[in-house]
Amino acid sequence: MSGLRDGLTPLVGAKTAKALSSALGIETVGDLLRHYPRRYAERGELTDIAGLEVGEHATVMARIEHVSKRRMRSRHGTILEMTITDGHRRLSCAFFNQAWREKELRPGRTGLFAGKVNAFRNTLQLANPEYELIDPDADPSSVDSFLAEIIPVYPAAQGMPSWSIARAVQQVLATFEPGEDPLPGWLRERYHLVDLDTALRAVHRPESWAALETARQRLKWDEAIAIQLIFAQRRHSALSRPAPACPPKAGGVAEAFEARLPFELTAGQREVGAAIAADLSDEHPMNRLLQGEVGSGKTVVALRAMLQVVDAGRQAAMLAPTEVLAAQHARSLREMLGDLARAGELGAPEVATRVTLLTGSMSAKERKQSLLDAASGAAGIVVGTHALIQDTVSFADLGLVVVDEQHRFGVEQRDALRTRGADSTSPHVLVMTATPIPRTVAMSVYGDLEVSALRELPVGRSPIGTTVVPVAEKPAWLDRVWQRVTEEVRAGHQAYVVCPRIGDEPPSDRTDRRPPIAVLELAPELAEGPLAGLRVGVLHGRLPADEKDAVMRAFTAGELDVLVATTVIEVGVNVPNATAMVIMDADRFGVSQLHQLRGRVGRGDVPGVCLLVTEALDGTTTRQRLAAVESTLDGFELSRLDLELRREGDILGAAQSGRKSGLRLLSLLRDEDLIARARESAQRVVADDPDLAEHPGLARLVDDVVDAERAEYLEKA
Ligand code: ADP
Ligand code: MG
Repeated sequence: MSGLRDGLTPLVGAKTAKALSSALGIETVGDLLRHYPRRYAERGELTDIAGLEVGEHATVMARIEHVSKRRMRSRHGTILEMTITDGHRRLSCAFFNQAWREKELRPGRTGLFAGKVNAFRNTLQLANPEYELIDPDADPSSVDSFLAEIIPVYPAAQGMPSWSIARAVQQVLATFEPGEDPLPGWLRERYHLVDLDTALRAVHRPESWAALETARQRLKWDEAIAIQLIFAQRRHSALSRPAPACPPKAGGVAEAFEARLPFELTAGQREVGAAIAADLSDEHPMNRLLQGEVGSGKTVVALRAMLQVVDAGRQAAMLAPTEVLAAQHARSLREMLGDLARAGELGAPEVATRVTLLTGSMSAKERKQSLLDAASGAAGIVVGTHALIQDTVSFADLGLVVVDEQHRFGVEQRDALRTRGADSTSPHVLVMTATPIPRTVAMSVYGDLEVSALRELPVGRSPIGTTVVPVAEKPAWLDRVWQRVTEEVRAGHQAYVVCPRIGDEPPSDRTDRRPPIAVLELAPELAEGPLAGLRVGVLHGRLPADEKDAVMRAFTAGELDVLVATTVIEVGVNVPNATAMVIMDADRFGVSQLHQLRGRVGRGDVPGVCLLVTEALDGTTTRQRLAAVESTLDGFELSRLDLELRREGDILGAAQSGRKSGLRLLSLLRDEDLIARARESAQRVVADDPDLAEHPGLARLVDDVVDAERAEYLEKA
């Protein structure tokens, strides 16, 4: 008899246990049984070879099409070359000095093939493939799951292929006893969920597609309820904390600012503004996420909130991801406020406040003054980098923290703010992000935040045309790229060229992949070659702050034509005359990052153009992602497409064990109803039993997710 928390060695043997641990991080019976198949192959049916991810481990059910043997010229020995197919696409495989395999690798036979996906001479390969051929004469009712009608395909890794995992699972299930079901009976009855033992057995060895679906439904609930319980607990404890109440005040700086706004607020800005104003008036802390495309006007919304807090006699802090951005925010806040930011100066209105910048690269003297302004309360608004909250900066009376452009501002960071208000209160928090998140994702990832969105852009924004430039297939297109940049400059505009790497770092040991294109290498090549005659500048995160500032100012003033930069320009930079952006090695960036980057162009009245240069091959998920960026400018649609593609990548057996995310079966995209129900159930449970003292099974589920979260967080740190 074995339970979820038992070790694996006695059940599967030391060798397999060790391999499971090192290849996939699977240590316990629970880890193994929660390592669900990613998909299932039906006996006799080939699966689509599409959406493979270069560099990742994949498992495909395919048919051998062609096998040939030849001598290697440079080395002794033979090479066995094999092509496998799903009927449409092909993958090539090679075996070195394993000529004996020719006997079993007969064209026409099918099986599972697993290995690392490589791109070689513009074709996709499975390197060092492992395989398990299907025996056409085997008895489908045999105990070996590999011979069943529905064959599980597990997320696998080199040295631990899918079929070996399947066998280990069989061995474990032979003695498995789950103990008490973690989901309370009333919940299972209400939503017609099968018990855990039934579900686990059926997910690994389904007797029918219907039984599999029932099992998956139940196991998804485990994931959904665990996450929603965590959020329900967080909301519960947030609502019991005191916050500095900041009700709006008549005749204050907020009203004075309103009166001199040079534009009409959009309906969205008004609506979100009203929700925030109400939150700020409350005695419990606001926790709100504001999403809005680049340029949707989040800053004004934040400023209005900060002024309401200043009117209440308290302070607001605004945190930016980089020093450049912090400096820019301070500048633009002062600009928008005019003399309303000049408290203490001659002729300033009585309601005026002060905006203080606080960064690590300031001189000791400046910094001391800023610290003093924050501590004395002389500064109504303090702008700095995210490090501001980790620092020992003290505030006289902090009422609100605005976190800009940071969708990964996690729970830990928000926890760090918890007692920063006067008398250890929790300040209100407004997190702003340009990366739109679909509703269900927000519900699962930011379940303890209220979410609002600005969906319309203020008038005067121009469209951006995006084109993928596949240089592996069409090398000549790269010349066209630089021609296009030159044309934009000749027309009086400016351009960005973005690279993934700076180029001053020590060489890496990883030789399997060309290092990404670097700013410091590309800039001189362009200046002497295809962009000769144009004024080319360089910007990256490791330039000294004053130099960064100088370059940015020169570009803004039009004294540079082309800025070759890293993603430091990703957020906030606003140069309306910049109309073109070239992104080199675009495949090395995430979808939302690309979307955010291109938001830098098309800010004036001329349409923008964004060229995504990539060597990624057609047929890879990477290329599908770039095509998604090409296809739409709607950030919400894009994040949905991205999510779908990620999911597809997983479904095809990429080696992400998924173990750390706590989400293995649950699809944030497709399981919206289930997530909403789990949320409601979690709220019910927590309202009566906040510590889950009466729900030990649920507490254990939560524990498992929290542990994984913590592990992930530690790994990142
Ligand atoms: P975000 O931070 O969301 O990317 P910003 O707040 O920087 O966007 O706004 C982008 C530009 O649009 C700024 O120059 C800002 O002054 C302007 N803007 C904001 N709201 C409006 C509005 N309602 N009408 C016209 N222009 C606006
Ligand atoms: Mg902004």
